[in-house]
Amino acid sequence: MPKRSLARKRDLAPKRGGGSKGRPSSRRRISRRRYRVGRAKSGLGLFAVKLIKKGDFIAYYSGRLITTKQADELWTKYLFEVNSRWTVDGSSRRNVARYINHSCRPNAETDVKKHKIVITAIKNIQPGDEITYNYGRNYFNAFIKDHGCRCLACREKAAAERAAARRAAARRSKRRSRKRR
Ligand SMILES: [Zn+2]
Repeated sequence: MPKRSLARKRDLAPKRGGGSKGRPSSRRRISRRRYRVGRAKSGLGLFAVKLIKKGDFIAYYSGRLITTKQADELWTKYLFEVNSRWTVDGSSRRNVARYINHSCRPNAETDVKKHKIVITAIKNIQPGDEITYNYGRNYFNAFIKDHGCRCLACREKAAAERAAARRAAARRSKRRSRKRR
């Protein structure tokens, strides 16, 4: 459905606390339009549309609460372990937080409060910036490490290393050409 028609529909919807059925909280969150789903370096990502200030609530990682045992049998990567017993299956598209990618230098963090996963900004996030949080060492080692991390911090680090290697190679070849003379 085109975004515009959705926006129009939302404008007609009753305001907060208007006793609307369904998912008032998610509607409220989307209507603020603080972020959008867009193309990122690794698939889709969530991007700020407005300034999100440090400490601001961003979203809940929402979905059905299943046992961690059940989660182990599911073939989805959109799982978030609440504790050793419970996991949130966040694979529904309504869960915008599932679009948030991993970063080794994130601008958001997750916190578990009473079986709810809260995502909060830990830096000011400028419009256009991708929203990221650190997925943690277990996820990193299991799913990211092998193909290499493509977060901004790692890409910058790799670029700096390539530049240093180029400079070193240039020095070596200069030395060699000097010897030849
Ligand atoms: Zn990284």
